[in-house]
This record gives sequence, C-alpha cells and structure tokens, in this order.
Amino acid sequence: MTELTAGLGPSSAGVLDTLVVGAGISGLTAALRLTQRDRSVLVLEHQERVGGCITTASGEGFLWEEGPNSFAPTPELLELAVEVGLRDELVFADGNLPRYVYWRGELLPVPMTPGAFWRSRLLSEGGKLRLLLGAFGFTPPAMGPELAARGGEETIREFFSRHLGSEAVERLVSPFVSGVYAGDIDALSASAAFRRMANMEAQGGGLVGGAMRVLLARRRDRAKAATKPNPQIPKPKRGQLGSFRTGIQALPEAVAAKLGDRVKLRWRVEKIHRTPYGTYAVDVATPEGLQLIEARSLLLTVPTQIVADLLWNLAPEASQALQGIYYPPVACVIVAYPTDAYRRPLDGFGNLIPRSAGLKTLGTIWASTLFPGRAPEGWAHTINFIGGATYPDIAQMTPDAIAQQVDADLRQILLKPDAPEPKVLAVRLWRRAIPQYEIGHQRRLDTVAAALERLPGLHLYSNYIGGVSVGDCIKGGAAEAARIDQYLAGGSH
Ligand SMILES: Cc1cc2nc3c(=O)[nH]c(=O)nc-3n(C[C@H](O)[C@H](O)[C@H](O)COP(=O)(O)OP(=O)(O)OC[C@H]3O[C@@H](n4cnc5c(N)ncnc54)[C@H](O)[C@@H]3O)c2cc1C
Repeated sequence: MTELTAGLGPSSAGVLDTLVVGAGISGLTAALRLTQRDRSVLVLEHQERVGGCITTASGEGFLWEEGPNSFAPTPELLELAVEVGLRDELVFADGNLPRYVYWRGELLPVPMTPGAFWRSRLLSEGGKLRLLLGAFGFTPPAMGPELAARGGEETIREFFSRHLGSEAVERLVSPFVSGVYAGDIDALSASAAFRRMANMEAQGGGLVGGAMRVLLARRRDRAKAATKPNPQIPKPKRGQLGSFRTGIQALPEAVAAKLGDRVKLRWRVEKIHRTPYGTYAVDVATPEGLQLIEARSLLLTVPTQIVADLLWNLAPEASQALQGIYYPPVACVIVAYPTDAYRRPLDGFGNLIPRSAGLKTLGTIWASTLFPGRAPEGWAHTINFIGGATYPDIAQMTPDAIAQQVDADLRQILLKPDAPEPKVLAVRLWRRAIPQYEIGHQRRLDTVAAALERLPGLHLYSNYIGGVSVGDCIKGGAAEAARIDQYLAGGSH
C-alpha cells in the first residue's frame, strides 16, 4: 500500500524542496550544499550503504579499494573533506612516485622531466621528435570525409596521433585511457573525454602553447577573484594523489553523517510522476513498503540506464539518448603476495599495460606503496583492473578465472617465477563501471538537456556529465545544487 509521505497539492507544507536520488558522491555533495542553503532535502539510496562506486574494504590486516583507488586533490574535494571533519584523515601519496608502462617485456618509467624524456627507452628517437614537434604546434589539420561525416569530432586515436604521433598514442595515451576510462581509443571522443586538451588545441600553439595560455588565464582569474585562501585547507604538492587514512569511503560516510536522517538507505526510487502543480511525486520502495514522496525539484544522480528507465514516460527522447551511453564491465582484482615474491621493489604508483602487449590486465596500482597502513608487515598488495571496452568478455568469467588471469599477468610483469599463490582479497566485478564519453556524447547530452527543458525542476548530474573522477563529481554536484537553488528561488510552485 502506498503511504503518502508528503501531501500533494499546491500549498502542501509537506512538499520537499529537493529529492536527491542516489547517495554516491555526486548526490551527497549536492544534498549537503542544498541544506547549507536552507533547502529541505531527502537523499534516497537503494543500497545499504552510501558511496556508490566508492568502496573501501578491509580484512586480514589489509585495507583496499574496490572502486576509485585515489583522487586528484582538487580544491572542491579538499574543501568538502575539511568541512566534514576529515582534515586530519587526509593522506597524500608521494608525487614523485614513477608511473611505469610495460613495454617489450620491461617496466619503463613514464618520463616526467626533459632529461628523462631524452633518456627514456619508451619512445624511439623518431617518436620523441614527432611528439615534440606536435606538442609545439606542428600538427596536420583534422580532415577527411569520415571525420566530416561525424561533424569533425575526432576519436582519441585521431586527435593524439595528429598531435603526438602514433608511437606516443600506442605507448602513452592508450595505456592512460585504459587507466582512466577502461576505454577504447577508437570509440572515445577526444573533445568529450579530454575536454581540457581539446580546449588547449583551440588556444593555438599546440598542446604546450595551449596549456601555457590556459595556465596563465587561470592564474589571472585567481588573482582577480582574490579570495583569501582558507588556511585549514591543505596544499598538496604537484602530482600528489590523495586518500583518507581509512580509505576513500570515509568521505561519503562523513558527508552522509552531516546530512543525518536526511539520507535514507534501502529506499529505491521506482517511478516518477509530474503533478498538475508542477512538482514531482516519486514512488519509492522502502523496507517498510511503498511510499510516495513529493518534491518541488528532483536531482537524479544515478547511472544512465536507471535514469533512462525513470524518464521513459516523462521524456522519451532523453531516455533514448541516455540509453546510448555505454558503461563497459571492469573487474578490480585485489591480490597480495609476500614482499619477497616480487621481482623488484614496488617503488612507484603502478604500471599500465598497452593493449599491444597481449596481456588481459589493463593496469596495476601498487596500492600498499601509495598510502600508509594498507598491508601487514611482510606483504604488499596490488589493485588490478581487467576488462573494459576492449575486453567486455570479463563479465562472463567467474571470479576464480578472473583472479587466475590477473595472477598469470602479474607473474609475467612483477613476480618471481617461484612466487606463491596469491592471497585474493577481492574480485569486484563492476558490470557497468565507467561511462564512456564516445563519439556523439555531447550531442546525446544536448538532446537530454533540450528534452528536460519541458520538465522544470528535474535535474540530472553524475559522472557521465562533467567528468568521471571523484573530484569532477564533487564539483559538478555542487554546481548542480546551485542551479537547483536558483530554480527554487524563482520556482513556479
Ligand atoms: C572501478 C572504478 C575505478 C575508479 N577509479 C577512480 C579513481 O581512481 N579516481 C577517481 O577520481 N575516480 C575513479 N572512478 C570514478 C568515480 O569513482 C565515479 O565516477 C564516482 O564515484 C561516481 O559517483 P556518482 O555519485 O556520480 O555515481 P555513483 O557512485 O554511481 O552513485 C549512484 C548511486 O545511486 C544509487 N542508485 C542507483 N539506482 C537507484 C535507485 N533507483 N534509487 C535510489 N538509489 C539508486 C546507487 O546505489 C549509487 O549509490 C572509478 C570508478 C570505478 C567504477
């Protein structure tokens, strides 16, 4: 039986300002920002825990991540962490830890200085020269009938081959894309997935010249804004990645704690209706039965296939466009071996593996090197990513088979021949892991935005819109909260 949680009607005092669907980091950030603007908010989450993709686990003296393994410490993320009381829990990895690429049977560091670049064996002399010429603006124009048919939108392979040459694409760009998107460089759109890079090109002078101009403009903007920096907010060094002493899940948990009983766990949104008064009435399955909740605005922070289902009756064009966004399956395999089982010290961030190496694993994070307290004495664990857009068959494999595949790949790259069997801490298969910003992504989002103009008060935000990283979700969630607040201030209810 449906229980009416908030009354329907134009003057109902029980109508919420905003109902947020999904307690991942996007939804939680937006909800916190709205409550700080004195808006009445409820966050509904269908799982038993908050955090969505962010999943920290522990056992047998290990602490590991099954979703994001670290984050770029963006100003918005650090501000949020400090605000929810996690300042002293922040930990930063050494920014100088090398990143390795497995190339022709060796782990070669990605060069980070001009000297290291010239000494590096990752690229041939010709490849280095090609990269430098392109980076400084000696690039062929983007052209061809196929490209014209796509409205000039280049794939990542096309864009970076033009700018940096095919060697750099195979040995640097493609492994990096595997590390961020678990994606396919022939399907992803350069302008959607690497918006900042595409903007740099637009500035002229190649990627280096464009980067300098962007940097200078940012400095000018910061000087103009002239806000006093908050001394509470830590200032990590360039290249440092962050986490929390007890893992990344500490962040969504601390935000949820601030929101208190405004967060409802095991409450699943099943259907959305628009009322004659311009509000939204939402059917919610709760442990106590079905409930109906009414709100003046609605923020959906769930993955696209769920948004598509929820919007099917209200905005079929938006629903159809969202269905076209692909999330490939990815497994995170966390395995530990005694430290003396490794062929080399784990003295870096980790290693990426170009697809041409013929291995299934996309990359390995040397997790216990990054942050303190992640493994017991005498042990080291790694987080391995396998699957993605170039190996979707992973979704049909058993956890044991996935772990065996990762172990076989690690034996080729990192382990001694007589290394013992691994301690398999977790095999977490994300059946729909990371949204792919493929060719046509922006057009899909434009279609969705146009369809939603007919549904004022209905907002969407999650990692398929403004970037996939945790920092992007925090920034985007906060910006969406500001837009909702503006809507409510001049709202039609
Ligand atoms: C394997 C993996 C590795 C990653 N690595 C990194 C990394 O190292 N660094 C980094 O910065 N980023 C990383 N990311 C990306 C980042 O973690 C995500 O983009 C981000 O956490 C997404 O947050 P979100 O709140 O937008 O969505 P989600 O985390 O997907 O949250 C959506 C929430 O909605 C809930 N929900 C779904 N349906 C309903 C419903 N009907 N009713 C109520 N609730 C519902 C879900 O249970 C979920 O909690 C990684 C992601 C994955 C999957």
